[in-house]
Amino acid sequence: MFSLNENCGLFGIYSDQPCVNELYYGIFKLQHRGQRYCGLATWRRGLRIFTHKGYVRHTFTPAELDELRARSGIGHVSLKERQPMLLDSRLGPFAIAFTGNIINAQRLTDDLKKNGHTFSTQHHVELLGKLIAQGSDFADGLAALARQVRGSYCVLLLTREGIYAARDPHGFKPLVLGRKNGALAVASESRPFNTLDFELLRDVRPGEILFLGRNGFETLKVIESEHISHCAFEWGYIASMDSIIDGVPVVRARKNLGASLARHDRVQADKVAAIPFSGIGYALGYHQESGLPYDEVFLIDRFASRSYLPLIKAERDEEARIKISVIAENVKGKSIVLCDDSIVRGTQIRNKVFELKSFGAREVHVRVGCPPLMAPCIYDISTRSYRELAARKYALEEIRRRVGADSLSYNSLEDLVQAIGLPKHRLCLACWAGKGSKR
Ligand code: SF4
Repeated sequence: MFSLNENCGLFGIYSDQPCVNELYYGIFKLQHRGQRYCGLATWRRGLRIFTHKGYVRHTFTPAELDELRARSGIGHVSLKERQPMLLDSRLGPFAIAFTGNIINAQRLTDDLKKNGHTFSTQHHVELLGKLIAQGSDFADGLAALARQVRGSYCVLLLTREGIYAARDPHGFKPLVLGRKNGALAVASESRPFNTLDFELLRDVRPGEILFLGRNGFETLKVIESEHISHCAFEWGYIASMDSIIDGVPVVRARKNLGASLARHDRVQADKVAAIPFSGIGYALGYHQESGLPYDEVFLIDRFASRSYLPLIKAERDEEARIKISVIAENVKGKSIVLCDDSIVRGTQIRNKVFELKSFGAREVHVRVGCPPLMAPCIYDISTRSYRELAARKYALEEIRRRVGADSLSYNSLEDLVQAIGLPKHRLCLACWAGKGSKR
């Protein structure tokens, strides 16, 4: 079971109608990408903004949403910091929100400071805003950003004229474009479009700078790169199962991975089950390929959510334990294939195997959708360090013993690539290949 430390979701709308409700539900439907902070900024005769600590549905008040009424706006959910951020610049005032990680942030910050710039935060979003504002206009600033920045980013800018949306030239993080009647929207993944009845038009292309305004959408520039590196973990864990990103439905990739686990398996079991929610797609794929009955062995408590994510790991683990209970009737005396997305340290899966066994499971065979994690991510989402990754420290048999499973297997890197269905050279696989990409 993987858990994210730094990840974010973006949503933006330009509409011919008031759109604050769509904005609000847009970030709500991206909450899986970040649970600690949320924020909305809109433009109505100037910028308005509210940011909160906590979940979208627990924080914004009706009065705030009323104050935010407008025909254009951007929103953000995060595990890291409050966004959007408002900046005043010689290009005019704007709001900025971003997702990603800037590897050369320190050097870029130092360069700006040498030229007399001051910073009110240490957040990458402020750095990006200041870099963009160096351009002759917003599009020029975003193009310069693509040349200066190492790392991953998707950026939304809310200006008087409309919304700029940009994706880094490698296309690490997803960004999609949708439309409904007179409204255009951009989002980190397509999930909000389903709820809001938007048509998914296409992905924002790697390196593309898009403008959403009164004349529709327009590609202002595309900064080409020799290498495309879509984050494969989006299909493995990060994105929601009802999203389509870079043309590939997330559910398809996860079911393909589950089917691949089943094809390589010889175990005799009574049923296949998932650790919810991240293991569900894998378990379904396993079931469809093998014909082994699918069953629920864990139940998520719908009312267990706290209004914020605890900062301390021990509290988060306790939260996870309280939230998921075992369905004893489905477990007792059974041999269970248990699917999950990944193993980081192995503590969470060990707890789940232990719980199943203490409720009488005869055997628990752990099947992991993604290959063994061998490196931390430098582009976005790392809680992991090399030190804590079980697969770097132990052989497969030792991990099996430590998690208490009767058997353990993973998909291979080739299985992962095949399951996603995009060419290998267009995927970032660095966290499994065992080294950080140089891009
Ligand atoms: Fe995604 Fe892993 Fe690459 Fe990071 S290193 S961008 S998590 S595939």
